[in-house]
Amino acid sequence: MARFDVVVVGLGATGSAALYQLARRGFHVAGIERFLPGHSQGSSHGETRIIRLGYFEHPSYVPLLRRSYQLWRELEADSGRKLMRITGILEIGMPVGPLVSGTLAAARQHDLPHEILDGAETMRRFPAFRIPRDFAGVLQPDGGFVAAETTVETLVELAGAAKAEIRTGVRVLSIAQEGQGVRIGTSDGDIEARCAVVAAGPWVMDLLPDLRAPLRATRELMAWFKPRDPAPFAPGHLPVFILESRHGMHYGFPMSPAGTVKIAKHHHRDETIYPDDPRRPVSELDETLIRSAIESHIPAANGPLAAAKTCVYTMTPDHDFIVDRLPGAPNVIVASPCSGHGFKFAPVMGEILADLATEGGTGHDISRFRLSRFS
Ligand SMILES: Cc1cc2nc3c(=O)[nH]c(=O)nc-3n(C[C@H](O)[C@H](O)[C@H](O)COP(=O)(O)OP(=O)(O)OC[C@H]3O[C@@H](n4cnc5c(N)ncnc54)[C@H](O)[C@@H]3O)c2cc1C
Repeated sequence: MARFDVVVVGLGATGSAALYQLARRGFHVAGIERFLPGHSQGSSHGETRIIRLGYFEHPSYVPLLRRSYQLWRELEADSGRKLMRITGILEIGMPVGPLVSGTLAAARQHDLPHEILDGAETMRRFPAFRIPRDFAGVLQPDGGFVAAETTVETLVELAGAAKAEIRTGVRVLSIAQEGQGVRIGTSDGDIEARCAVVAAGPWVMDLLPDLRAPLRATRELMAWFKPRDPAPFAPGHLPVFILESRHGMHYGFPMSPAGTVKIAKHHHRDETIYPDDPRRPVSELDETLIRSAIESHIPAANGPLAAAKTCVYTMTPDHDFIVDRLPGAPNVIVASPCSGHGFKFAPVMGEILADLATEGGTGHDISRFRLSRFS
């Protein structure tokens, strides 16, 4: 039976980053993925993901983000690939709303560069938007986006080049602590390891029935529109943006090389799904939930729908991540950095998971991500 230092289960953004960190540190590691890296069944596909520093969700994420930015740059250097585009980020909404007030709290606490624009100035500088005058915009220069599938594929390739064993098309069926190690049952036979890192996205509930966490998988949607007026969306003219309005929280990106603008609604319908069930196809209501915000606030984008894809969030009730050891199985480390905002953290999560798997602890503050908060 094969025996490894660490086995990483699931090669989405999180698992592939952990595998790369472990392999480059010289550990004997394997990564197991039931599909192919970059696939569209989980949470890590759809061309792009926003990256930002001043974090409306909570200021305590900022130190992790600073490290993640450093590691994104290292990953670009190691791979020779451009994975990150810095466009700035514009966050728009009522000054008292969670988006604007939360971003400002994080920016002030961590002394992050930012500009506050009133509604009129936001529209003058960024003519893509039509917003009420009592809205505000917070502009941060460090925001931007990272490549989605290309990042996962790059991490897996680099891990392979650093001698990680990569098993794709293999499904993990069971994970059990055995003595001081772990036995992993797969569709291709059993494997032993000192430690398992489980980064199985929405499937984590199936794989770890003892995980006492109230996780929920939700169906999400990303849509690409052919803008009615492309000029305000041209790269260099528009940062990535998040807009909080009576229609919900929407986010979007500058125009892609294909001439489309990607816009989506965070927590699209908040609809719980089982990740292995066939995904309900994109409906008129799905489109309306995004187009209503576009009609009201981003009218220049209001052209034909060019494409739409579903994706999955793995949600915790407090929207914070889970990164912890499985209770009763200390050699099993579980990582669910999702709740719809985990991609930008992938490189730092890889570092944290490699620390936990091989050093017993990490210098990063991950106290917010403990499982015990649910007990
Ligand atoms: C529409 C959408 C938009 C988002 N936007 C942003 C954003 O702008 N910025 C941001 O930072 N984050 C964003 N996120 C969140 C981010 O994409 C996720 O946090 C991140 O992709 C989670 O990656 P993961 O590796 O943990 O999970 P996944 O990508 O789901 O990967 C889990 C992997 O485990 C594999 N697996 C599962 N079970 C098994 C098994 N039994 N055996 C073998 N393999 C298994 C799966 O096949 C899968 O490849 C968004 C998410 C979505 C859905």
